[in-house]
Amino acid sequence: MERVNVIGGGLAGCEAAWHLAQNGIKVNLFEMRPIKTTPAHLTDKLAELVCSNSLRSNEITNAAGLLKQEMRAMGSIIMKVADMTSIPAGSALAVDRELFSSKVTELIKNHPNIEFHIKEICEIPPTPAIIATGPLTSEGMSTALAELLKKEYLYFYDAAAPIITGESLDWDKAFWGSRYNKGEADYVNLPFTHDEYDTFYNELINAETYPLKEFEKPIFFEGCMPVEVMAKRGYKTLLFGPLKPVGIFDPATGKQPYAVAQLRKENAEGTLFNMVGFQTSLKWGEQKRVFGLIPGMGKAEFVRYGFIHRNTFIASPLYLKPTLEFKALRGLFFAGQITGVEGYIESAASGIVAGINMKRFIRKVGPIALPLETMTGALLNFITSSSPENFQPMKANFGILPPLQNDIKSSKLKKILLSQRALDSIRQFIEYEKVFSKENNKTIY
Ligand code: FAD
Repeated sequence: MERVNVIGGGLAGCEAAWHLAQNGIKVNLFEMRPIKTTPAHLTDKLAELVCSNSLRSNEITNAAGLLKQEMRAMGSIIMKVADMTSIPAGSALAVDRELFSSKVTELIKNHPNIEFHIKEICEIPPTPAIIATGPLTSEGMSTALAELLKKEYLYFYDAAAPIITGESLDWDKAFWGSRYNKGEADYVNLPFTHDEYDTFYNELINAETYPLKEFEKPIFFEGCMPVEVMAKRGYKTLLFGPLKPVGIFDPATGKQPYAVAQLRKENAEGTLFNMVGFQTSLKWGEQKRVFGLIPGMGKAEFVRYGFIHRNTFIASPLYLKPTLEFKALRGLFFAGQITGVEGYIESAASGIVAGINMKRFIRKVGPIALPLETMTGALLNFITSSSPENFQPMKANFGILPPLQNDIKSSKLKKILLSQRALDSIRQFIEYEKVFSKENNKTIY
């Protein structure tokens, strides 16, 4: 039987290898550590958590909690081991970091269908193959990817502005409009008085930030300046940048405000908004506090905080199908953060989907996209159907799910119903897969 080459023994690579191996498919798993390492990994263990030891909320009324529940249903090794090695963390699922990666390493390395190799892969591997080399993909593989893709569609750093929900904005203050009322009113404007700007400015320049690591510093030279760094250049700098008020008139006063923050639609439904020009290294709590001072954002719900770090990812809307197969080469799949999903569990979930679809490829039945109602399916749909020009990595969040049939006012009830629908949908998907596997080979979830 053909062996599948899985490149990268991180969260996504382990999930993909595990799913294949559990389904009787032989895997070659290649991991470069410890002969070569990344600037963030510290050990030679598989599925190392490079920063926080929290996998975020465990509650299904939270998007991250829902995603985890879907992963459990799909037989995730990361969730199995996370549940085994969890430590008390309230409603979040935090793990004993050491124990977690040791246990994943043990399960993967001892699996009879997985052959483990310590090797840096510097070429696009022969198919069938899954590339899951992560946000800190080695230079050798980055060069190979740049040859495979057009160079400009392989990104090496990531500076993202926060994304907030439209329903959490104060629409008595926020208004739609474009500069000089030209063209469509594509932006939501948040107008400041001079006093409001003054307060916001002083809090922004004194807010706490995450220190940039040495390997992340070149980001500044690539024209991607954090909003707080720009602000520190002078009191008025932002008024000529992301808070420029010129040509915008507040319908409430008919006048041009002192400053204006702008939000751009993040999805076609207009349920999510991106804070234009607000890429930032502010700590998450500080983003909520300081950006909450922007008029209209007092109760803003952040579905993703802004961040700046090195991150290798491809323009998935151009290159990948929602099944995670590379459009231009059958049998080549991508998984993990390199696809433009953002976060530990999002990376792992995409690894399961790559595993499922590689299994289907090997068994010569077509790859399959997960239902859009599931958090996993919605996330992969988002990263493969966004606008390639503005493509930014995405975390699990309720805003990417198709809306419910009925207009429910209570945000909590809405999340409960969306979660129930997602879990029903993933159960049906798994049932379908089981029928498929009876007709083909045996599938173990
Ligand atoms: P990884 O887990 O990084 O796995 C990729 C693997 O491929 C690595 O083991 C690497 O050594 C190997 N590899 C790379 N190139 C090659 C090659 N050419 N040949 C063979 N092997 C190779 N997410 C969160 O949810 N919470 C956080 O706190 C968090 N902190 C982060 C901090 C940093 C500094 C970074 C960069 C990312 C962080 N992330 C965080 C984002 C992301 O969730 C993690 O990076 C996650 O590990 C991604 O999973 P992955 O499987 O795609 O990549």
